[in-house]
Amino acid sequence: MAYNAIFHPEKDRKITVKRPSLQKIRNELRKLLFKRINNKILQLLALKQERRELYYTRNISEEKYFEIIKPIQTKIQQLMKSLDESIVLCHTCGDLEGNRIYRNKDKTWYCLRCYEILERSDRKEFEALTRLD
Ligand SMILES: [Zn+2]
Repeated sequence: MAYNAIFHPEKDRKITVKRPSLQKIRNELRKLLFKRINNKILQLLALKQERRELYYTRNISEEKYFEIIKPIQTKIQQLMKSLDESIVLCHTCGDLEGNRIYRNKDKTWYCLRCYEILERSDRKEFEALTRLD
């Protein structure tokens, strides 16, 4: 069986911006979004640390501590997940610039370089496995 019969790289969605002025706007917007989300995560981590210190200094119960910490931790995880799955940065290398490809197999976005590496790697692995049959 051929690689393309199992995986469908031809269906992966590529978004290419060719005009340099638009590339610049795209990159600036990505940096802005990344900075906003990153700052929010840092604020929440500081808040979590503050609450942790309260737990140690004010002798609050463990149940109360987790009640306070859990929504903060959940929000941090949601923000990190949304950033990780977004087109803002490459899922593998974290690059903020350049064109992107949505890889159906992973349900996330990659820069072209990382996408090519992943595709080559998967193809080699597939070919090695089929040789074993
Ligand atoms: Zn990358």
